[in-house]
Amino acid sequence: MSISSWPDRDRLRQALERETTRFVETHPRSRALFERARRSLLAGVPMHWMVRWPGGFPVVVEEGSGGRFRDVDGHDYVDFCLGDTGAMTGHAPPAVADAVADRMRRGATFMLPVEEAMVVAEELQRRFGLPSWQYAVSATDANRFAIRIARHLTGRAKILVFNWAYHGTVDEAFIVLDEEGRGVARPGNIGPPVDPAVTTRVVEFNDVAALESALAPQDVACVLAEPAMTNIGIILPEPGFHRTLRELTRRTGTLLVLDETHTLSAGPGGCTKAWGLEPDLLTLGKAIAGGVPGAVYGLSAHVAERIRPRIKDDESDAGGIGGTLAGNALSIAAMRATLASVLTPERFDETTRLAARWAGGVESVIRERRLPWHVVTLGCRAEYWFRPTPPKNGGEAAASVDPELDRYMHLAALNRGFLITPFHNMALVAPGTTTTDVDGHTAAFRDSVEALL
Ligand code: PMP
Repeated sequence: MSISSWPDRDRLRQALERETTRFVETHPRSRALFERARRSLLAGVPMHWMVRWPGGFPVVVEEGSGGRFRDVDGHDYVDFCLGDTGAMTGHAPPAVADAVADRMRRGATFMLPVEEAMVVAEELQRRFGLPSWQYAVSATDANRFAIRIARHLTGRAKILVFNWAYHGTVDEAFIVLDEEGRGVARPGNIGPPVDPAVTTRVVEFNDVAALESALAPQDVACVLAEPAMTNIGIILPEPGFHRTLRELTRRTGTLLVLDETHTLSAGPGGCTKAWGLEPDLLTLGKAIAGGVPGAVYGLSAHVAERIRPRIKDDESDAGGIGGTLAGNALSIAAMRATLASVLTPERFDETTRLAARWAGGVESVIRERRLPWHVVTLGCRAEYWFRPTPPKNGGEAAASVDPELDRYMHLAALNRGFLITPFHNMALVAPGTTTTDVDGHTAAFRDSVEALL
């Protein structure tokens, strides 16, 4: 790990200590609830990675609305984390809240279609250009099902992912490159069914030569990729990378699965629409149902035509694809309202403008203070990096992770009323966020940085 020489480590430690004291003193109720939770929840949190928030315990939420939320100690925050994209619509968008309440009163799940399933699929056709759609409960599931379809169609067992990608709890994707360039289980991988090197090839994003040789044996069912990486920080594709990725996958009979769960930030039709991409399958979860669990995956005409006759109707409940709650009426009602009223082109224009302003504010401080840092945007999402240039790939990105500095910047932001996506420095902007919120973040960022000078 290469940690930048700036800031001075003693100064950073002192600043982190000050912020931690401030956080603990001003969040007594969150702290008391965390202590209580330790007696009933594993690690004191409903989901283990919630212990990774800085400050020693997570803030406990009271309620949220739009781009803001309030904690149990009465503090209000501008939320740039938005449930790591699950609340990209803003919290409790009224159209979704009404649709969900209405649907709940009329029945949430039937194992039968509702008319809205077609309305949503038709909108997805318009947005992403893929003709055939299915529902799932989570983005993880959508990815698992896309992989199964790819394997079934190609008769190939392996998949390919990019180094440090994240696609949910998909076993095959928990693989990274080691220092010798071999694929190894990602650190922290709990109970992998098999060594992921058996199921998966892994290469660096933007590395055309490595991709070409990994696909050459023609034994890879699909490449599973985010159009731009977002889970080790935002990494944009280099010019021409997607064209080459598509050519190589086509030439080798490999299917291309694009996971737009986070890159939907690029616009109403994600990067697929914005950049004219041509995936064979497309997966999308989280924000699509405005915070209600739900996901979708789309199939190209070619894939749909070939897979349809290969799945026998009377065996289709046992194919490893589905889930009792997949396609439930409640998620679909939420999706319809989200697509019709919240994640609209107008709203994307508004949030994209604000993300650019957020990035511009951070950049102005970086420039003023000559910091060896850098900012990247992807539609209504932005990220600052503790390195002077944007990383080309996951390996470079992982090498610039600085956990101590990360903790400090996140906690300093939190103490000043701003929540940033954990594990790296990403901000997502929800509809309803204001220029005052964004400029407030710039001021907080400046203040946090000045404490390190
Ligand atoms: N795909 C991507 C790109 C993601 O970032 C995530 C979650 N961070 C997932 C899939 C999985 O989503 P879920 O945990 O809701 O299944």
